[in-house]
Amino acid sequence: MPIKQTLETILQTQGVTLQTCTDMQLMQALLEAVQTLQTELPHAQGKKKLYYFSAEFLVGRLLRSNLINLGLLDEVEQLLQSCGRSLAQIEDCEPEPSLGNGGLGRLAACFLDSIASLGLNGDGIGLNYHYGLFRQDLSGGEQRENADPWLMPQNWLIDTHKTFSVPFANGTLTAKLYDLCISSYQNGVCNRLHLFDVESPAPAPANGIDFDKTDIAHCLTSFLYPDDSDEAGRLLRVYQQYFMVSAGAQLILQELEDAGHSLQELDQYVVMHINDTHPSMVIPEMIRLLVEHGVDLERAIYLVQHSCAYTHHTILAEALEKWPVSYLQTVAPQLLPIIRELDKRAKLRCADPAAAIWDENDVIHMAHMDIHFSASVNGVAALHTDILKQSELSVFYKLYPEKFNNKTNGITFRRWLMGCNRPLSDLLCQAIGDGWKTDPNQLEQLLPLAENEDFCARFLAAKSANKHRLADWLKQRQGIEIDPDSIFDIQIKRLHQYKRQQMNALYAIWKYQQIKAGILPPHPVTMIFGAKAAPAYTLAKDTIHLILCLQRLINADPQVSPWLKVVMVENYNVSAAEMLIPACDVSEQISLASKEASGTGNMKFMANGAVTLGTLDGANVEISQLVGKENIYLFGRSSDEVIELYRNNAYHSSDYWQKPSVQQLVDFILSPQLLAIGKPDILARLYKDFIAKDYFMALLDVEDYIAVKERCFADYQDRSAWVKKMIVNTARSGYFSSDRTIREYNEDIWHL
Ligand SMILES: *Cc1c(COP(=O)(O)O)cnc(C)c1O
Repeated sequence: MPIKQTLETILQTQGVTLQTCTDMQLMQALLEAVQTLQTELPHAQGKKKLYYFSAEFLVGRLLRSNLINLGLLDEVEQLLQSCGRSLAQIEDCEPEPSLGNGGLGRLAACFLDSIASLGLNGDGIGLNYHYGLFRQDLSGGEQRENADPWLMPQNWLIDTHKTFSVPFANGTLTAKLYDLCISSYQNGVCNRLHLFDVESPAPAPANGIDFDKTDIAHCLTSFLYPDDSDEAGRLLRVYQQYFMVSAGAQLILQELEDAGHSLQELDQYVVMHINDTHPSMVIPEMIRLLVEHGVDLERAIYLVQHSCAYTHHTILAEALEKWPVSYLQTVAPQLLPIIRELDKRAKLRCADPAAAIWDENDVIHMAHMDIHFSASVNGVAALHTDILKQSELSVFYKLYPEKFNNKTNGITFRRWLMGCNRPLSDLLCQAIGDGWKTDPNQLEQLLPLAENEDFCARFLAAKSANKHRLADWLKQRQGIEIDPDSIFDIQIKRLHQYKRQQMNALYAIWKYQQIKAGILPPHPVTMIFGAKAAPAYTLAKDTIHLILCLQRLINADPQVSPWLKVVMVENYNVSAAEMLIPACDVSEQISLASKEASGTGNMKFMANGAVTLGTLDGANVEISQLVGKENIYLFGRSSDEVIELYRNNAYHSSDYWQKPSVQQLVDFILSPQLLAIGKPDILARLYKDFIAKDYFMALLDVEDYIAVKERCFADYQDRSAWVKKMIVNTARSGYFSSDRTIREYNEDIWHL
């Protein structure tokens, strides 16, 4: 049935038509129509099946991406237009699923899209959080957190009516299984994201995100990453993790038995991918279940080790999960004898205490268990994997060199170019056809067009259209007016000291002081930030406060605001990213070198024709190799220098603060102007951190940063030279397709 008829039939049951229904009714009718089409499609086939375990899947809104993948986008857009409606407006009624928080969750979502689109037999396994991380409210000059409910009565979840019993120490909980359909692009299959939930979830807290963290039966799936600054919060995370992996492992065994395979041959039919350490307990849990099903322990350990693969996502040692034995004793004591056994075997392989799973303080190191008992360990960008091998995980690399491999992250171009940037996507199709949609490497055909004046003008026009769209959106959403002809300089990502939003804030201070002194920039600049800070991460929240203070000071100053604006976008999420990234001129990727494992925001910006201003960190290194030095702005110390500084304890921020040029920026944080706007205690805390600690070395790089940023903004003036840089960035971005990444995972690790 054509989609028009399907929609009319659905709407008819509510007594409305395509012309008379509300946007919400139309959204729900589209959802129902799409869901019906999806459930009729077959699952991808194959002897072996991948189960991708992840605590987060930041899938974003699903209507548009499902329409793209089902090949229905144009048809639906035209249909809506003919009824005087617009898809953009309809999709604004779709709440964004609150199933993830940042890059790691977004990566998992891109991977599921690519797995399905390559026709690979693989599903995701995660949890059905009801209220997400939190919804960010900035109205009071500081971040406030509220629940972020997304499950409207009609939503994308399918109730499978399957349940699993998860045995906790203090009683058994039932895990209900819901599925999200993952459509493939153009190849007619539909895989699944399996999301487990408790039977009777708690209602959202009336205010804020405080809830009873000990009410496991009702609150287990309330929030992603419950505040772990107290023990109840940390225990709840362990409850969540065990719930996810136990139900997931049971699902795998059930599917294996349904297919008539012997559990003795698990490794021939199953790959369990462990995305970061949150799902690590799947290793002992699967061993436990196999033994319970009559497999002997030796064989069970062999099977699990040969079917698990682990992705290591960080360089920050403090981000590696370690759970006290007592927590597991409280939550799932049945795992402890198995972990004890795994630790014993690990110690036979390597006597170095640094490689222990169960250390002498009775703490369990999840990453160590993953590395000892997986067949593959991968980093997520070339530099990151090198650093893992050479320093962070060198003990393990010496032990298992054959396990270590790199899989540079990627993004799906279906969402991050076709879906979010219609003006550019249409232009690309006119210029080089639409082969790039299935093979983004074909974007290289754009390179000769960088010399074509007409194409250059149209490339700039597409960027300008996106900048106008963003300006309208910001005006409507936050009441802030920005100049679409100014340079859009954008830093959007989770707030973390290592990502150095605080250094970018120092640039805003520098620019403000310059303009106040009568030194006007060559071109007006709009600095845009978007970031959520973890609720218990004080310095990150303080940085948001500083940015909001600068926003108020600068935007209200008639001498400064024609030249400089600062905007903090509220509640940064995937939908906001889809609005911001196509409009960006300068992409801020300024982490302290060696600290950003890969980044994927950097790739999205590149594909959309933004020019990167960054350090040689994570995948920026690969971006710079692809585009060449003329088409990227690099600054700052190298990862080797930074690692050396840490090793020798040789960085003292006060040495840098002594320099008058730096001091004048940092001291402005406690200036009368800012104190009049902000909270003195917060500003003082930030100030003190800059001078006394500055663990991520913002003051080390800030002068070089300002100098290179100035050169970048000056270069923007030469529009015909600048547009060539934009085109080269888009043209060379094909390497970062998550289809390429997933092909590599499959060829080197999964063998589906
Ligand atoms: C891509 C993306 C990220 C990751 O951004 P990085 O700059 O790589 O940290 C985080 N959040 C959202 C909403 C994203 O779309």
